[in-house]
Amino acid sequence: MWIKFLGTGTSHGIPVPGCQCRTCSSDDPRNNRTRSSVFIKMANRKILIDTAPELRLQLLQHKVGVPDLILFTHGHADHIMGFDDIRTFNWRNSKAIDCFCDIKTKNRLAEAFSYIFSAEIRGGGIPKANLKSIDKLYQGYKDIKPLKVFHGKNEIIGYRLGEMAYITDVSGIPKNTLEQLGNLELLVLGALRWTEHPTHFNIDEAITISKKIAASKTYFTHISHEVEHVSASKYLPKNISFAFDGLKLKI
Ligand SMILES: [Zn+2]
Ligand SMILES: [Zn+2]
Ligand SMILES: [Zn+2]
Repeated sequence: MWIKFLGTGTSHGIPVPGCQCRTCSSDDPRNNRTRSSVFIKMANRKILIDTAPELRLQLLQHKVGVPDLILFTHGHADHIMGFDDIRTFNWRNSKAIDCFCDIKTKNRLAEAFSYIFSAEIRGGGIPKANLKSIDKLYQGYKDIKPLKVFHGKNEIIGYRLGEMAYITDVSGIPKNTLEQLGNLELLVLGALRWTEHPTHFNIDEAITISKKIAASKTYFTHISHEVEHVSASKYLPKNISFAFDGLKLKI
């Protein structure tokens, strides 16, 4: 099993257009963060989590191939706006692709991409997706468990896949989800910036919860331009690191 980070940036991406800060003007590629998404190979299945606005470019750059299924965390623009790019997956797989999401994300996708789900518009290259409820994941995908987490007041979805968990855009993890996060080899957790934020863990909050979960290794994602990779890394405990676009980890 392996995971590759396609994107590790917060909603606007890094660098921020027009910003001259040291992260945005850095030559270090680890400070160049597209919108957050990961690609996972597990039990001969290729899994994409979220369809970031840069999806096509991410797939070309990181050469991961075509996914067999897509898992959505939630319906915010930075996690769904690459959805049209799944058209080329249909050609490779010769069928509609299974996409698992909650009902709120299903409704957001249907609103944002109404042409895909409209009965009147046909042809012209419309993606084919089977939007399925995460409650149905256990049918055929027993090794993937959805996890309820809080993104501000919003309840959204993280995922446990074997000994790995992916939880982005998070500001609270309920007790019954924490109970499902034991014995992890890898935890990927959202950690936005130094200062507090109403809908995301800041770095100190993410460190505290990571210590509680106690995975063998934790990587932070969904990172803002407040965080310069090299200097900020010195602040983190030994088994916690900042992820970066293109990072591949074997589990
Ligand atoms: Zn986000
Ligand atoms: Zn900046
Ligand atoms: Zn979000």
